[in-house]
Order: sequence, then C-alpha cells, then structure tokens
Amino acid sequence: MKKRALSMGLVLAPLLAVTACGGAGAGTSSNYQYVGPAQGAPPPDPPPPSSAPPPPPAATPTCETRDVYTLCTRQDLTIVPATMRNHMTEVFFDVYPRLVQRFNRGAPMMVTFVFNDNNTPGAALGNTVWYQAQWLNDHAEDYDIVVHEVMHLVEAYDFGLVPSWLTEGIADYARYHYGVNNAANHWSMTPPSPTTSYTLGYGTAARFLVWVEDKYDAHAVEELNAALRGGSYAPAMWMTMTGKDVNALWAEYLADTTWAPGPPQGHSN
Ligand SMILES: [Zn+2]
Repeated sequence: MKKRALSMGLVLAPLLAVTACGGAGAGTSSNYQYVGPAQGAPPPDPPPPSSAPPPPPAATPTCETRDVYTLCTRQDLTIVPATMRNHMTEVFFDVYPRLVQRFNRGAPMMVTFVFNDNNTPGAALGNTVWYQAQWLNDHAEDYDIVVHEVMHLVEAYDFGLVPSWLTEGIADYARYHYGVNNAANHWSMTPPSPTTSYTLGYGTAARFLVWVEDKYDAHAVEELNAALRGGSYAPAMWMTMTGKDVNALWAEYLADTTWAPGPPQGHSN
C-alpha cells in the first residue's frame, strides 16, 4: 500500500498505516514503558491519531523555516507549554537534517507537528507527527520523543509490510545516537534478558542493533534502512551482513554480558 502524506486537518482514513508508538520514555531507569508488540505476535492495529470525541476545527498552524527545512506546529485541544514546544522545535532543527542526510535524502522538507489528545504518545505518517499533549505535559524532559518520531518520517517504510520491531528499533537507535536530553529523561536502551527478544523492538532492538554494528557491520542500520524502505528486506539479509542469521546473533548478544554500548555518535560530526 502506498503511503501518502496527509494534509493538515484531514482525518486519517482507516486503512492508512500510522506508526503509533507506545511511549518515548522507556528506559532502564524510567517508570514508563513502551507498549510494544508481544514477542511473536503481529503488531497491534495502530490507533487513529485522534479519539472520540471529534476535535474542533483545526487550529491555524505556526510555521518556521531554517535553511531548507520548515516545521509547522498546530495545537488542537490540550495546550502544550511553550517551553516544551520550543525544546521540541530545537531538537527538530538540530536532528532532523542529520537523519535526512544519513538515512533518506528524499524525506519531506516540510514537517507538521500536531499536539492533540491522541491515545498514544506519538504517531507518525508521511510528513506529520501527532503528539499526545497530555504526555508532553506529564513528561517535561521527554523532548527527544521528537527524534524517535521524525525518524519514522525519514524511514518512510511501508509500515504494513516491514517488521515492526525493526521500524521501532531503528527509531530508538536514532534516539540513542541523536537525542539531546536522554540522560535527563532517564531514557536509555534496554539491556536484554534471557526471556526477551529483539522482536520487542524499541530500546531492546536498538541496543541489539548497536551491538551488531559494533561487532559485525558498522553500517548495518544504514543497510537495513535502505532495504526496508526499498522493499528488498528479507531475513537472509542478516546472513549477508554478518554471516549469521538473526536468531544466532541474538543468542550471541545475550551471551555477551560484558559488552556495553559506546557513546552516541550522532553529534560527533
Ligand atoms: Zn515509533
């Protein structure tokens, strides 16, 4: 199914696949947990960007352009404090161009953030990200949620056809490397345990991807990203990249108990 960019004010058609994220505050020392798909289970149906009752007519967006990128923001219903919105704007203009440059130079140059009463902290499709205003009001340090969500715009995968654990794992991989406030938000990638799997996605998969890059292929995520967007991803790709299948890699990762991720690299150049 070809995705299409949504214009502001349009209601999502039910068949459009939105990448809805259970939360951006998950981490080993956080009280918040992502609501990821259960191991081996298909991803849950994404909720619509807004839930009943229907919102009033959309507010007028405010737009700002820096260099070649434009960010428009629009507040529906609940108001997000200006401090938070300003942090999110700065993260966008700092990080989004880096993600576009590295992962998808065809990503949209004009992006819209909508703050409303979503039932998920963040959801992304085309050139739009919907943020749950209440989440942002309750998590004042969590403005790196922007990194995770705009990475979904950069991914531009056909979300219904690619493994959701990779979609969400790569988004948290981006958050790890490019986030500016993860420590203050007590966000970090999730270490594995014998009962977990890479299929949990999010921080669990992100940390696994960082390990794969450290041990086997420094460009693994770039290669996966290109294949996922281009429709050529297949599980055999792990064998091509590393000489092992993904389950063998996960077993090796689990056994590598002394490994720890190095510092984030997103702002090093
Ligand atoms: Zn996500």
